[in-house]
Amino acid sequence: MRFWSTRGAHETDFIGAVSQGLAPDGCLYVPEDLPRFDPNDIQGDSLKDIGTRLLAPFAAGSPLAPDLRALCGQALDFPVPLVSVDKGRGPLWVLEVFHGPTAAFKDVGARFLAAVMERSLPLLEPEDQRPLTILVATSGDTGGAVAAAFHRRRGMRVGVLFPAGQVSPRQKHQLTCWSENVRSFEVNGTFDDCQTLVKSAFTDPSLNMRHRLSAANSINLGRLLPQVVYHAAASLWHWRTEHRPANFIVPTGNLGNALACIWARAMGMPIGDIILATNANRVLPEFLATGDWQPRPSIQTLASAMDVGNPSNMERLRHLVPDFGDLRSSVEAYPVSDAAIREQIARDYERLERVWCPHTATGFNVYDQLPQARCTEASWIVVATAHPAKFDNIVEPAAGTSVPVPASLAALLELPSRYESIDPDLAVFSDMLDQWR
Ligand SMILES: *Cc1c(COP(=O)(O)O)cnc(C)c1O
Repeated sequence: MRFWSTRGAHETDFIGAVSQGLAPDGCLYVPEDLPRFDPNDIQGDSLKDIGTRLLAPFAAGSPLAPDLRALCGQALDFPVPLVSVDKGRGPLWVLEVFHGPTAAFKDVGARFLAAVMERSLPLLEPEDQRPLTILVATSGDTGGAVAAAFHRRRGMRVGVLFPAGQVSPRQKHQLTCWSENVRSFEVNGTFDDCQTLVKSAFTDPSLNMRHRLSAANSINLGRLLPQVVYHAAASLWHWRTEHRPANFIVPTGNLGNALACIWARAMGMPIGDIILATNANRVLPEFLATGDWQPRPSIQTLASAMDVGNPSNMERLRHLVPDFGDLRSSVEAYPVSDAAIREQIARDYERLERVWCPHTATGFNVYDQLPQARCTEASWIVVATAHPAKFDNIVEPAAGTSVPVPASLAALLELPSRYESIDPDLAVFSDMLDQWR
């Protein structure tokens, strides 16, 4: 399979798309064609089996094709249960994509990316003996997932940059509990400052002469593809017992997770309606309502991993569905305020004894606002993006209960935390990189 930049100016293969992240024209890579499957032809129940089958066309022709099964096994080796939820409105499930090492769905993409990169490295520039230095700016969940996924992998090291005071205490611990090939930098600034620092490192010629830099941000195809797998698997599990498609509600920020769901449907998976739930950053709902694309700086909300004012994967969605009328009939999007997030967490704890993370709460809020007829006539799956224990500072006061910490998260929280504080200044950051041994 070949991959093209959305503007069609650059073409590469599977390894190229994953190792470059962004195409040289600054656009995102998309597959030349999405493969199509008949859901009845897909065998197996496990994420590994379903993933190997669905992703085979993307890896076809690549030297990594024979490794695909092992790669899927590494990325998708924790449970992603589809759990029934009884709200008394109709058939409803929650897809829990948060049982990985850092308790958010970002683990899936980060682990696949790390496994692909580790195997690609010897094939890329075998004569270059320098370690690959992966820089990642994070507003919370991405950095922890990438650090965990790349920790102790050969030939690669990770620099995580996070904004001071803007991540939850437990998120901060997950960003800073690593050692060996992972270093964490607390930047005295905002997430945008972190991102600008990473971008200026990438475009600084002398820094690039001295270091072999790479990115692991959420626009990388290597993170998107494995996310297709759990949406597809959930729709197939549902299809095999209920014999009809399921509708999905996906909490959305940068549109990576939701786009993976949309790709899964375009690949023939039994998925009906797809609704995006956003927080108060409402650029997507406004666009679908008015046709006006108005990206803007993000505002801080309780669902901080969705604080995105200019969702970059929109470019891939427009590429898949270029016509605005078609786009409008293919997805819906609704915003959820912080007050509604808090109320949702409290209400669902009271009714169901389940505590959602603030992101997942946006999904259930959107579900609760659906007209009753839509709940009765179809099955719904809400994607739960993070474990609530990761956001205990928000969910415990909202629900009025304490949330038990899952074992994998507890193990990370036991580790000592260490990080360096830096100003958002390229000269300072360059020195740090130069002294990294
Ligand atoms: C990243 C993240 C989101 C948003 O996902 P996108 O792919 O950016 O749309 C939602 N919830 C949690 C917990 C996240 O970490």
